[in-house]
Amino acid sequence: MSWLTRWQAWREQRLIAKHPIPDALWAATLARFPFLPADEPRLRSMCSLFLATREFHGVGELQVSDAMAVAVAAQACLPVLALGLGVYGRSRGIVMHAGEVVAPREDVDDFGVVHTWEEPLAGEAMPGGPVMLTWDAVDWNDDGGPVFNVVIHEFIHLIDLANGEADGIPPLPDADAMRRWHDGLTLAWDRFADRVAHREPSCIDDYGTRALDEFFAVASEAFFVDPRALRAEDPALYAQLAGFFRQDPAAHRP
Ligand SMILES: [Zn+2]
Repeated sequence: MSWLTRWQAWREQRLIAKHPIPDALWAATLARFPFLPADEPRLRSMCSLFLATREFHGVGELQVSDAMAVAVAAQACLPVLALGLGVYGRSRGIVMHAGEVVAPREDVDDFGVVHTWEEPLAGEAMPGGPVMLTWDAVDWNDDGGPVFNVVIHEFIHLIDLANGEADGIPPLPDADAMRRWHDGLTLAWDRFADRVAHREPSCIDDYGTRALDEFFAVASEAFFVDPRALRAEDPALYAQLAGFFRQDPAAHRP
């Protein structure tokens, strides 16, 4: 281990020690989000590191409580348990709104006509910038339909953005790995679009039909929140995500 690596490890240990998560709050977070792996020792210490290195901003009347911050931290750390927080790039801010945010949108069509509309948002990830989340969406209760998890969704976008464009391709070792990733994900996207077109049930939210980067985000939500359902629905997609995240969540679920 080099001096720099040792120094970084020592610094991380100090940050973790300075930001312990109280037992009661940790237990409540695990109970509130039952897909979090309670027996995974890295999760709690990574959450402390996340809280030590991120800045939360509440918008308007919203005061970000410890419970809110830990809820976000735990779900944001889950995808990167094996990869480390570095894969999220330089983004450090988390902007929280109480409820739904309406964003003005504008687009110019092929005839030069400008179209404007308003889009309701549960969250948004900006390249190099903060992640915006609405507490209503973070605190949302699963209604048994396709998986919805705004924290995992937006943080997967950060991974996607870490190597440039929002194109559904995360940072990978080389061009060959990127091509294999793109081919595999595109095939899974086609299978998913087919299922949606035939109105077959899916654990993946049909928002994923919009673009490949959205499919990567919603498929990852299903991978972490309902891994057994995703493995049963599309074993090849499950295997691709398991290989990238270096996790096999379906194997550990009761
Ligand atoms: Zn998205």
